[in-house]
Amino acid sequence: MRGILTLAPLVLLAACTGAADKAAQGVDGAAIAAGTDDQWLSYGRTYDEQRFSPLKQINTQNAAQLGLAWFADLDTARGQEGTPLAIDGKLYITTAWSKAKAYDVATGKLIWEYDPKVPGETAVKACCDVVNRGMAAWGDRLFLGTLDGRLIALDRATGKELWSVVTVDQSQNYTITGAPRVINGMVIIGNGGAEYGVRGYVTAYDAASGKQLWRFYTVPDAPGKNGADYLKKAEASWKGEYWKLGGGGTVWDSMAYDPELDLLYIGVGNGSPWNQAYRSPGGGDNLYLSSIVAIRAKTGDYAWHFQETPGETWDYTATQHIMLADLTIDGKPRKVLMHAPKNGFFYVLDRTNGQFLSGKNFVPVNWATGLDPKTGRPIEVADARYDKTGKLWLGSPGPGGAHSWHPMAFDPAQGLVFIPAQITSFPYLADPKWKPSPMGFNTGDDFASVSMPPVPAVREGTLKATTGELIAWDPIAQKARWRVPYKGPWNGGLLATAGGLLFQGTADGRFLAYSSADGKPLWTFAAQTGVIAPPISFSVKGEQYVAVLAGWGGSYALSPGLISLKSGRVRNVSRLLVFKLGGKAALPAAQPVEEAPLNPPADTASAETVKRGGAIYARYCGVCHGDAAIAGGVTPDLRHSAMLGDADGWQTIVHDGALAQNGMVGWSKLLSRSDIDSVRAYVIHRAHEDKALAAAKP
Ligand code: CA
Repeated sequence: MRGILTLAPLVLLAACTGAADKAAQGVDGAAIAAGTDDQWLSYGRTYDEQRFSPLKQINTQNAAQLGLAWFADLDTARGQEGTPLAIDGKLYITTAWSKAKAYDVATGKLIWEYDPKVPGETAVKACCDVVNRGMAAWGDRLFLGTLDGRLIALDRATGKELWSVVTVDQSQNYTITGAPRVINGMVIIGNGGAEYGVRGYVTAYDAASGKQLWRFYTVPDAPGKNGADYLKKAEASWKGEYWKLGGGGTVWDSMAYDPELDLLYIGVGNGSPWNQAYRSPGGGDNLYLSSIVAIRAKTGDYAWHFQETPGETWDYTATQHIMLADLTIDGKPRKVLMHAPKNGFFYVLDRTNGQFLSGKNFVPVNWATGLDPKTGRPIEVADARYDKTGKLWLGSPGPGGAHSWHPMAFDPAQGLVFIPAQITSFPYLADPKWKPSPMGFNTGDDFASVSMPPVPAVREGTLKATTGELIAWDPIAQKARWRVPYKGPWNGGLLATAGGLLFQGTADGRFLAYSSADGKPLWTFAAQTGVIAPPISFSVKGEQYVAVLAGWGGSYALSPGLISLKSGRVRNVSRLLVFKLGGKAALPAAQPVEEAPLNPPADTASAETVKRGGAIYARYCGVCHGDAAIAGGVTPDLRHSAMLGDADGWQTIVHDGALAQNGMVGWSKLLSRSDIDSVRAYVIHRAHEDKALAAAKP
């Protein structure tokens, strides 16, 4: 009896100690700020988003011995852009359609999976595939943003949903594809939709309860409705009835945090619509589009901003990877922020106050001749403002950007920033008859007139001008140390390690380890699909691993038609790939990817009907099914559709929405049956053009 009584408090004490230990093992701000060598706790590994692993068991001497430890097939055949988290021997990933999964690293066994059941129709609000870029961790929880605008807290051990909040007005065209970040128990999440008429913002939620703490808008509301000073200031930089078109400025990807300064840095997107003549007639800088904005994390107050593309009209977002580092410039230690946005310039800013330190184009650009050395403001080429001239502007970069969301990586010892860059161009042309539409891409540009023409010389020329590059950039000298050319754009995000390695997947289906000092390839793995996601590295029981999501997709696999195929034809094979030294696992044999011969029904529609269908296709269909009806290996290639010869079947899908759950929404609210049949006529016509081209090839 006495024994039992004395035991009871001991049991309680043990239980309490266990709980305390568990909490102590949880992810906290100190661990994310400093990084823990064997883990990957946050999207960019650490708050400074350097994506540099200090592990060096895998290094330049032994990289050739890398092999597949295990792989896991995923249950979505869409683009995979996620960064996994590696915590206490487990891997946590997100996939297309905002699903989450947990795996045991040692065995490759699935521990749990979570499906937020995003409605298929949400896909029509997403310009750039139904992707997700990852989760945030805090304590014993994970945080996931979903395509339909929810922020969800999951129990890290079980995958059980703890709370869920809707972060957007779901009647508008908002989406979430970016990873949240957690700062001092606050979960920060942005959203996308600048091509669909929304107003951008980021919101902070309490990690414990999901309660909203603050919201920071990136563009002003209507005059008189802006309370905060920074929005009043922004108001003066807009003209016309800008608020009626949303304004844009969505924060759909990059963030970084400096715990000492308590500054959260966000990258603000392009305007809605692109064409400034419609968005803000008469011009203006349109703050805070295409800017880096620093926010006081504790309160959500504005601290400073730096606008990279004032009055942007080319889809030049500043949402690209924001990276923080401490560099010695002119003998002085500087706390810098580094940025390589779509507009093609590499920026180094003082992150304490937003002061411009230096900037230089990292690929050829033609919209600006350079940056003002004092202010960093671009020195624009007048003809680039197609919204003002009314003439076609063949701009470099194009909307695909000199660099998109694919993360960079930093090597502090070498002082190099590695950029997954691309050389792109686009024929910008204002649409004089443009009207905003409640559904589909809203740019104010005429896509139909600039659709890839079936003229072999023009096609070949455009294809030749679009390539990719892996660049090792010296941010102090503002010049490339080395470059690795790629055949096409849309290659994968990066990971640098203390082993002297740089890892990257490619659009043509490889996964490589380079020597980060000179760009020499040391190891190549055939991934059987395009790899666009960034890898991570971590260790479990003393063994170093590299993990990456494989699976072709994202905007360049959807919208630019023939350019999607520039690196060669690949399929989406969605998998988690995990590598280690001496790994012996093997993928199943690859499936063939050759295109079947085109076999369209007779081309009987009038030229007028084909033209009408082409205009509708370019405005509403091309963003997902590809310019000129040429698909890039993710969404169905309509030239091959069995429904081309079945007018009623075509209406069932395109008008009535029979495939809405797969992401193909019905268009009956916007398009008539006759409109929809003209699109069928256009696709049949395009299939005949391409069939003739294929027959003409030797
Ligand atoms: Ca955009």
